[in-house]
Amino acid sequence: MLRIRHLVIASSLALGACSSHTDQTEAPASPGTAASAPATATTSASAASQANPFYTESNLPFHAPDFTKIKDSDFQPAFEEGMRQKLSEVEQIANQTAEPTFDNTFVALERSGALLTRVNRVFDALTGANTNDALQKIQEDEAPKLAANQDAIYLNPKLFARIKKVYDDRQKLNLQPEDQRLVEWYHDDFVHNGANLNDEQKEQLKKYNGELSTLSTQFTNKLLAASKDGAVVVDDKKQLAGLSDADIAAAAQAAKDRNLDGKWVLVLQNTTQQPLLQFLTDRAMREKLFKASWGRAEKGDANDTRDLIVRIAQLRAQRAKLLGSPNFAAWELTDQMAKTPEAAEGFMEKLAPAAVARAHAEGKDIQAVIDKQHGGFKLQPWDWNIYAEQVRKAKYDLDESQVKPYFELDNVLQNGVFYAANQLYGLTFKERKDIPVYQPDVRVFEVFDKDGTSLALFYADYYKRDNKNGGAWMSNFVDQSKLLGDKPVIYNVCNFTKPADGQPALISFDDVVTMFHEFGHGLHGIFANTQYPSLSGANTPRDFVEFPSQFNEHWATDPKIFANYAKHYQTHAPMPAELVQKIQNARDFNQGYAMSEVIGAALLDMQWHSIASDAPKQDADAFEAAALKKTGMDNPQVPPRYRSSYFQHIWGNEYAAGYYAYLWTQMLADDAFQGFVDKGGMTPENGQRFREMVLSRGNTVELGKLYRDWRGADPQIAPMLKNRGLQK
Ligand SMILES: [Zn+2]
Repeated sequence: MLRIRHLVIASSLALGACSSHTDQTEAPASPGTAASAPATATTSASAASQANPFYTESNLPFHAPDFTKIKDSDFQPAFEEGMRQKLSEVEQIANQTAEPTFDNTFVALERSGALLTRVNRVFDALTGANTNDALQKIQEDEAPKLAANQDAIYLNPKLFARIKKVYDDRQKLNLQPEDQRLVEWYHDDFVHNGANLNDEQKEQLKKYNGELSTLSTQFTNKLLAASKDGAVVVDDKKQLAGLSDADIAAAAQAAKDRNLDGKWVLVLQNTTQQPLLQFLTDRAMREKLFKASWGRAEKGDANDTRDLIVRIAQLRAQRAKLLGSPNFAAWELTDQMAKTPEAAEGFMEKLAPAAVARAHAEGKDIQAVIDKQHGGFKLQPWDWNIYAEQVRKAKYDLDESQVKPYFELDNVLQNGVFYAANQLYGLTFKERKDIPVYQPDVRVFEVFDKDGTSLALFYADYYKRDNKNGGAWMSNFVDQSKLLGDKPVIYNVCNFTKPADGQPALISFDDVVTMFHEFGHGLHGIFANTQYPSLSGANTPRDFVEFPSQFNEHWATDPKIFANYAKHYQTHAPMPAELVQKIQNARDFNQGYAMSEVIGAALLDMQWHSIASDAPKQDADAFEAAALKKTGMDNPQVPPRYRSSYFQHIWGNEYAAGYYAYLWTQMLADDAFQGFVDKGGMTPENGQRFREMVLSRGNTVELGKLYRDWRGADPQIAPMLKNRGLQK
C-alpha cells in the first residue's frame, strides 16, 4: 500500500500505554536507481523540471532531503513525473521478453520508482509534521492518483504472471533466504491487493481504492481542522486555576498566534483525555475542555466526520468481500504476526477482565477522595485525571511538578536516550547543524557505530505545532538498502509543549518514555542491515513494528540510565533517591485506566472492521455505544482513548483493524525485556545479540520464527500482566 504517513499514540498518565507509529509496508514503491528503467522514462524531463530538487538524488550526506531547495510548488510536478516514471519502469519489467527471473523481476522492482519514493517520503514527513493549505490541497489532488498508480501496478496481469512464475519455482531456484522472502512478500502482497481478480473485479477494486483514498485524506484534513477549531478559548484567567505559569504562558501564546491577544487558548490533543485536565481545578472548565475533545468532530458542521467513517467502514467491508475475505479485519490480518482477528481478539479478551477490574478499583479510590472532600458529585471522565493525581499524591506522594525539573528535554535526549543506545549498542551521536531542516526547531544528529563507522542520520522534531498532527511517530526519509547503497535517514516527531522563549523545556516522565519509544523505532531503522529496501528496518507488519519501540521504553527506568539523565536542570543534582522511589512505586498507578482505554479503542477498531459487506448503513454513535457494550468496555468513566469520529489511526492512517497491535507488541516487548533480565540485563553482549538477531533483520525472516530464534520460545503474556501492574 501507499506509504501514507506513519503512526502513533502518545502516552498516558501511566508508564507503558505509550506507543506510536510506524512504517507501513508498501508494494513496489521502493527507492531505486532506476537502473532497469528504459531510457525513454526520463527523457521527458523538461528544462523546468531540472530545477526540481526531487528529480535527482540529493547531494547531501546520506542523500538527506535538501530543504534549502524544496518548495511547496515542487511536489505536484514531482509526483506526476514520479508516477509516470514508476509506471514506465514497471511496464518495462512486465513486458520484457526474457523469462522471468529473480533479478529481472524482483530486483528490478526494488530498483524502480526512485523519484516517486523521494518525493513521497518528504511529502509524508511535511504533511504530518509541518503542513499548510498548499500541501493539503496537493494531498487531496494526488491521493487518488497515487492509489490509481499503485493499482495499475498491483493489477498488471503480465507483471503478476512473472511474479507468480518465480514464486511457484522458488524452491528450485536456490535463492538466498532474503531473496526467497522477497519473492514471497511480493507474491502475497499482490494477491492481497487483488492480483488474482478478473478484469471486471479489478475495475471494481480500483473504484473502491480511489474512493477510500479520497475519504481517508478528507478525514485527516477535517479532523485537523476540527481539532484546531475545538480548542477552548478562555476569557477569564480565573478559569485556568491550577495550571502552571508555563501552561498559562503557552495558552496565552496560543491565543496570540490566533490573533486573540489577551485571551487564552487550550489546544486539543488528539486523544480523548487532555493533559490539562489533570490540573484544572474549575470543574466547569474541565467539563468544557473534555466535551470539546469528545465532541470535536461531531458538531454537524463541515468538520463532522461521522458520515465519512460510516462510508469508509462500509466500503472497506465491500472491498474485503471482493478480495475473498468475510470482512475487512480478516483481510487485513492475513499478513500480520497474529494472522487472524480471532487470534487478536482472543489475546485482548485475556487482558480485558484484569484491566476492567483494575479500572473499577481505581474509580472507587477516586470517588472516595471526592466524597472525603464533600465534592457532592459522581466521578466523570473529566474528573478522572485531577483526582487520580490526588490519589497518586496520597498513595504514592508523587507530584509531577516536583519531577519535571529533572527532565530537561535536551538532557534527556543526550544523557538518557542516546546514552542508553551507547551502553547497549555502543552508538555515539554528533549534532549536524549543517544539514538543512524543514522547520527551525528540528535537530539533526549523525549516528556512529561502536567502531566509529557512520551509520545513519537522525532528525528530532519534538515540539507541538498547530500544523502538526497529534501524537508521536517515526519514519524514514531514506530506507537502508545494500542493493541501492543507501544508509538510513530517520526522523522522530513528538508533540511536547514548546517552552516560552528563554525557558527550559521541562517534560513529564510520560514524555521521557515517549522519547525512548520513538527512538526505539529509530534503532530499528538505524540498525537495518538488509539487501532490499522493501524488507528493511521498520518495514514490518504493524503487530511487530511497535515491539522495538516499546522494548526500548524499558531503558527509561533502568537504574543506571535513569541516574545518568534525571538531573535537576538548574543545580544538576541527581534526582533524590526518595523521588526516584516514588516514580518506581507509581509505575502501576492508573494502569487499569490506561490499559482499558487502549483495549476499548482496539476493540472498537475491530468491531468497525468486522461488519459484513451487506450490513445496513450504520449510525456512528449508536454503533460505537453498542460495540463498547458488547465488549464490556462501556464504563462511562473510562472512555476509549479515541472516539470513532476522531480515531485518526484507523480512518486516516493505516492502522485499520490494527490498533490491537499496540497491545500485542507490548506483550512482545515485555517478554523480550524479561529475556534480557534473565541473561544479565543491560550488557553489550545482550545488546549485540538483539541487534543482530532482531533489530537488523527488518522483515527478512517470518517474524514468529525470528522471535523464537532469538528468545528460544514463543512470547508469553505473563510478563506483560505483571509489568503493567495487572497481576502481582
Ligand atoms: Zn511506536
